[in-house]
Amino acid sequence: MTGVLVVGAGPSGLVTACELLRRGVTVRLVDAAPRPAPYSKALLLWPPTLRVLAGLGVRATVERAALPIRAFRYFSGGRPLAALPFPDSLAPLCLPQRETERILTDRLHQLGGAVERGVRLTTVDGTGAATLALPDGRLEHIHPQWVVGADGASSTVRKRLGLRLAGSTHEESYLVVDATATGPLPDGEAHYHQSPRGRWSWWPCPAAGTGSSPTPARARPWTASWPSADRPASGSAPWSGPARSGCTGGSARGFSTAASSWSATPHTCTARPAARA
Ligand SMILES: Cc1cc2nc3c(=O)[nH]c(=O)nc-3n(C[C@H](O)[C@H](O)[C@H](O)COP(=O)(O)OP(=O)(O)OC[C@H]3O[C@@H](n4cnc5c(N)ncnc54)[C@H](O)[C@@H]3O)c2cc1C
Repeated sequence: MTGVLVVGAGPSGLVTACELLRRGVTVRLVDAAPRPAPYSKALLLWPPTLRVLAGLGVRATVERAALPIRAFRYFSGGRPLAALPFPDSLAPLCLPQRETERILTDRLHQLGGAVERGVRLTTVDGTGAATLALPDGRLEHIHPQWVVGADGASSTVRKRLGLRLAGSTHEESYLVVDATATGPLPDGEAHYHQSPRGRWSWWPCPAAGTGSSPTPARARPWTASWPSADRPASGSAPWSGPARSGCTGGSARGFSTAASSWSATPHTCTARPAARA
């Protein structure tokens, strides 16, 4: 009999399943998506999260894979506005969410667990009775002792149980682009730009598949994001933003930079939709 059914294998579901498994609880972890998402999504791991990862035994792996961020810098109309340096004890690490999920999935496997992909929870009631739609179209009815809803912002578990979202949502949509930048971008700093024409930000990222490698100074992976309604200002020193932007089917379209000092080649692009309760 399944002790705990965890619905959703994003960071929340993976951590929950690992924590339960290492305490000897029987866990079934299902996810409707056929494969993990390839996008960067959440990038920064802050000290409280690192403490959770340490408890799971993956902190050293995460530290090898991630880049430390030493400061945030803010710009207004291209002019430096403020710098926020972090002492070591408060500094975040930058790691694309797909990498965090990959490390957590490896740990899950070490603990004897697995993600059942393409398995969607369709119903659950207050007794825990649940229906799973399997990849071959069959329905499986199960009755675990506990159900954990880790199925994201539009949680089916929450809706089926008639629960209200505790808290509030902030409506915003924006684009996130992974790219390789060439030029004099500083290491270990995240930059936030705003101007009357829009806002955007960028973070240096570890190179995909290289673990922690300090990335070559002249071809540095980075991730940028900006609200999809905005267009980053261009021509305002010391930077110029993407001249055009758009997302189609998960890949970047029409993305280009007009800066004289550096340029960027996009790899992936995804839009974060406004949060839905
Ligand atoms: C483009 C983008 C950019 C983002 N940027 C940031 C950022 O900069 N900083 C930040 O803090 N956060 C960011 N986020 C949000 C961050 O990704 C989420 O907060 C995080 O993924 C939440 O983790 P989770 O495990 O709770 O849910 P999710 O990662 O959403 O995982 C939920 C999982 O449940 C599965 N699922 C859903 N319904 C069912 C069902 N009925 N049955 C089975 N499985 C189901 C889904 O397939 C999914 O894998 C971003 C998100 C996006 C999309």
